[in-house]
Amino acid sequence: MSLALKPLLLFLVLCALNPFPSVECAIPFIRTLQNLRGIRRGQNADGVGILRSHLKNLGYQVNDKSSSDNNFDANDESALKQYQAFHGLHTSGVVDDQTIETMSLPRCGLPDITATPNPNPNGLSSSSPPQNYTYFPGNPKWSKFTLTYRVTRMPSSVSVSQNDFKQALRNAFNTWGQNNSFTFTETTGQSDIVAGFHRGLHFDFYPFDGRGGVLAHAFAPDDGRMHMDADENWSTTGSSPTIDVETVCLHELGHNLGLGHSNDPNAIMAPTYSGVRRNTRQDDREGLNNLYGF
Ligand SMILES: [Zn+2]
Ligand SMILES: [Zn+2]
Repeated sequence: MSLALKPLLLFLVLCALNPFPSVECAIPFIRTLQNLRGIRRGQNADGVGILRSHLKNLGYQVNDKSSSDNNFDANDESALKQYQAFHGLHTSGVVDDQTIETMSLPRCGLPDITATPNPNPNGLSSSSPPQNYTYFPGNPKWSKFTLTYRVTRMPSSVSVSQNDFKQALRNAFNTWGQNNSFTFTETTGQSDIVAGFHRGLHFDFYPFDGRGGVLAHAFAPDDGRMHMDADENWSTTGSSPTIDVETVCLHELGHNLGLGHSNDPNAIMAPTYSGVRRNTRQDDREGLNNLYGF
């Protein structure tokens, strides 16, 4: 086979394996959700199968049914209640306004639930400090504290410059490196963490979905990849309706360091984006400290 054909073949194989082929924009999903308003157990509606797939992708346990099965059954209700509990919503088991609003928010592409049980799955405790952070299955972490990073070439028409991105990254690294042993150094050669913008299918089985929906994703130690969706309306200010690049870098870097999603809505490791947030919270810092023994 010629060398020129190999990338094409790989692309076609990835397309065939890709569970979300060539989604251009997250708006159709939001429309689907709006059509499901008020749906409860036992009811049928177009889009229930899409909602089920969404919950499954976020790590919630649903039955393996065809996506064309649009009956909202007891299992779907249970998964929706788990979603509502994680996000601090009323656990109605009904596709209600609050649930639609939360599910429509831009978010990180990683699931809410991983195999490692959440220490406090039902929400915040008012009597003790919040411990809602999670880790990846098997608690992977770096075996060193001096990490290098590099930035990959920017694709065309990203709405922030490479210098802006680098500054956002520097700030995010500084934030995570406060009061612990981590140091982060930029390099242009081989590095522990590799950060950059990607568009649509980008050869890791987690294609981006265009503007809205998934903003970014990152991989657990010691993989080190941090991917930002090139199609988002990024900015360095986060003024509405733009997405603050530093806020998302800070969140994704938490994954690179070994943190999963937190159900503390104020944590930087909460899965949804709800505006500019350029600091870690107690829950985030406790998660990092307990993972590394700081
Ligand atoms: Zn995340
Ligand atoms: Zn990716």
